[in-house]
Amino acid sequence: MLYSTVREIQQMNISYWTKTSSTLWCEAELHAYEDSYYIAESFNTLSSIMIILIGMYDLIYTKRNNYPYTIQRISACIWMVGIGSTIFHATQGIIGQWIDEIFMLAAAVSYFIALRETNSSKVSIMLWLLIITPLITHYFFIFSFIFLVVVIISEANKIVNTYKINTVNLYTGIILSAIAIFFWIPERMSCKSGSLSDVCRFHALWHIFSALSTHYFHLFICECYADVKNISDQEYTIVEVNHYYY
Ligand SMILES: [Zn+2]
Repeated sequence: MLYSTVREIQQMNISYWTKTSSTLWCEAELHAYEDSYYIAESFNTLSSIMIILIGMYDLIYTKRNNYPYTIQRISACIWMVGIGSTIFHATQGIIGQWIDEIFMLAAAVSYFIALRETNSSKVSIMLWLLIITPLITHYFFIFSFIFLVVVIISEANKIVNTYKINTVNLYTGIILSAIAIFFWIPERMSCKSGSLSDVCRFHALWHIFSALSTHYFHLFICECYADVKNISDQEYTIVEVNHYYY
């Protein structure tokens, strides 16, 4: 028997969870609880595990190579985004949605701070206030995230121009993000039975490509840190040598 909407499913009492989240993805609208009584959106839940794995891999990489805490914090936040996303899509609950969105903003704030500190600049602690915006409304979260993306791009541009850093990882991350957004948009625009959004689980593809993009952005910030440190060490050595001779 086919149930067309998540509301019908809840009315018929064939789902374990009660929907409390403020957004409804296409998989929830058209295929909720199709594969399991306990998992609302199976494709979206499974693909969220990719975000957890990439966050974990990058966290281990930065810890093993002794990158500073500010850089390690980015991958820890991505890892938490994966946890939040898994809970969110499995349960359609507001708690999972908050964990997902709060840590997306925390990852973006951490990324901006890491870029600023690499460039020897400080950031106001007030910027952290943005991470509570999902608790107010989903739209504040979207505005906050777009704002952070804009300031990150501007800061990354400054660092690349100042220190002539290799941009391969940065542009790979941007291309993967563009592909992710390309999959995110059609699902938001149309979600009808038999449509392309019904056949292709676009939101799951969004998860996979955006997770991959965070990995390349992570490689870029690691490269920035290593290159800038290298340049600073060389300048320090030159100053020391000059001091010694004069
Ligand atoms: Zn999602």
